Amino acid sequence: MRSGNLFVISGPSGAGKGTLVALLREAVPDTWISVSATTRAPRAGEVDGVHYFFKTEEEFLKLAGAGGFLEWARYNGNCYGTPRASVEEHIAAGEQVILEIEVQGAFQVREKMPDAHLVFIEPPSLEVLEERLRNRGTETDDVIRERLDVAKVELSRKMEYDVRLVNDDLQLALAELVAYVNEQAEDTRG
Ligand code: 5GP
Repeated sequence: MRSGNLFVISGPSGAGKGTLVALLREAVPDTWISVSATTRAPRAGEVDGVHYFFKTEEEFLKLAGAGGFLEWARYNGNCYGTPRASVEEHIAAGEQVILEIEVQGAFQVREKMPDAHLVFIEPPSLEVLEERLRNRGTETDDVIRERLDVAKVELSRKMEYDVRLVNDDLQLALAELVAYVNEQAEDTRG
């Protein structure tokens, strides 16, 4: 069987990555979405092993030290990492593997797996981004301010990605993402 492909989806918190990735999974049947590990506390409704593998910092750093992560990074004071083995297994099984991760992690992946396709999801503007973060209602004002500062740094690196999609109209952004994934996957689907 031919190997699949690795897609890295980044973009500021509130750009709509999570929604797009969930819709991508429905639209492209051979996608597999990686579940990350994090030291962040679960938000209401988040389930261990489904949204994230929730770890203590000690557990996380032990895994990192043992080479268990394809990449990992600190973001807003918490650690986030991609479990290596499951990603490798699903690529070997011929699937389109999707990582939804922040920018430092994205460039670690590019170094380790140069064939990875890096996609940056942009909000239409910083104002729209702030509005989305506030409407989500899951974060305090301080966290929102921190996330907006991080967003500016993330946006400054968007030109290093293979492709940029502006998430203004969700259906349009989804169509672009599906088209990109299918185009890259075509050669390996056999
Ligand atoms: P959140 O706390 O909102 O779930 O995620 C915060 C940021 O961490 C988001 O930009 C998300 O894409 C990123 N993230 C989630 N999982 C990983 C991961 O495994 N590695 C890295 N580097 N970033 C991640």
